[in-house]
Amino acid sequence: AKVGIAESWHLGGTCVNVGCVPKKLFSYASDFHAGFEDARGYGWDVEAKGFDWSTLLQNKNKEIERLNGIYQKLLNNAGVTTHWGHAKFVDDHTIEIDGTTVTAEKILIATGGTPRALGIPGDEHVLNSDQIFFTEALPEHITILGGGYVAVEFAHIFAGLGKQVRLIYRKDMFLRSFDSDIAQALATEMQKQGIELVFNTHLTAIEKTPQGLAMTTNHGEALETGLIMAAIGRDANTKNLNLAAAGVEAQDNGRLPINEEFQTNQAHIYGVGDIVNDYALTPVAIAEGHYLADKLFGGAAHAGRSFSYNKIATAIFSGPPIGTIGMSEKAARDAGHDVTIYKSDFKPMKHTLSGRDERSLMKVIVDTKTDRVLGMHMMGADSPEIMQGFSVAMNMGMTKADLDATIGIHPTAAEEFVTMRTAVS
Ligand code: NDP
Repeated sequence: AKVGIAESWHLGGTCVNVGCVPKKLFSYASDFHAGFEDARGYGWDVEAKGFDWSTLLQNKNKEIERLNGIYQKLLNNAGVTTHWGHAKFVDDHTIEIDGTTVTAEKILIATGGTPRALGIPGDEHVLNSDQIFFTEALPEHITILGGGYVAVEFAHIFAGLGKQVRLIYRKDMFLRSFDSDIAQALATEMQKQGIELVFNTHLTAIEKTPQGLAMTTNHGEALETGLIMAAIGRDANTKNLNLAAAGVEAQDNGRLPINEEFQTNQAHIYGVGDIVNDYALTPVAIAEGHYLADKLFGGAAHAGRSFSYNKIATAIFSGPPIGTIGMSEKAARDAGHDVTIYKSDFKPMKHTLSGRDERSLMKVIVDTKTDRVLGMHMMGADSPEIMQGFSVAMNMGMTKADLDATIGIHPTAAEEFVTMRTAVS
């Protein structure tokens, strides 16, 4: 196909520029802290002399620029024309990109999300997750608002970088869509690390003070901090596309309703990624785009590529991280399954000598009638890496008997998943 792409900022989207990739680099930086401490029990005489945020920022920026360059090369090699600038519809086959007009037979909207604003007095003093990747200095005390992926991951990052961290979440337990045992286990670990978790609370006002920032909560409490980061979700980035000129319908929240073939109400205009679905995850958007490209232009050899939104493995790069696939216990029960639950809660072998007071939790949810595994969840070191493998088995319809028939790799944490013999409920 003859393809043009319009981009107003940097190639690679949220993930490469202000999401997964720089976040994971920050997360590695944060993990060294515990690594230095843990090394002592193994005989190492090490002490971190200090941490320099600007070195991390510069190195991160260099790496992201390198990736932007790779994306540009890939597009060039594939014969794609890059139109730099903000794209707007002129009509349903015409787009204007900063003064240049381009026409196309088919148009794909994949404009991603944008951080949600807090909308309270003083919210101009709050940084969102796009801005935090470029902030030049970190104060000693940081407050994070929200209880989803971004909030929990940045709480880990800042705590590991030696900052005092407070996380404020509006309901009684964060990570609402995750298995509640896993969320609780992570909350316990975060508190052990000194992270202050303030639940059932939201802010009503923020003010700048000579010392930093002052906040008022819905309970009338006054709190202070040096920096507030809001991580309260992202909205579909479709507001400035002049969708009306193309006759494309959007919901009030900016999302585009699509059918199973990713068509908007205009059959030749498609949508994929964060603007259309509940899974704001890069691999999901890529799978959608790949499916669509194959279907539209792949010919017989590629027609029929399929993917499913079922059993998408996902991870939170918290400390310790979470890896998860399939249903939480609550979701399984709510869906009417009769479930058998297996759990393993243990001190990781590494921490026998490190002396770190950290536990891991693994949980398997099984449909009692069919023996099918409905959900697998882990909080513990390497859980994102571990769950990717199990997600293949889950997608193949793994039963508990399959897990039981698998020989473990010893000594690993992952072997716990194949040696759970006794149900806990
Ligand atoms: P999430 O949707 O994960 O979480 C948003 C959080 O903010 C929820 O806890 C929500 O509470 C809370 N919230 C929403 N509105 C308000 C408000 N007005 N005031 C206070 N709190 C509010 O969003 P994130 O921003 O964390 O991340 C965006 C998306 O990016 C995620 O959904 C995820 O798909 C993706 N992502 C994936 C990562 C990964 O794969 N590791 C990492 C980072 C992001 P409530 O629960 O009550 O609704």
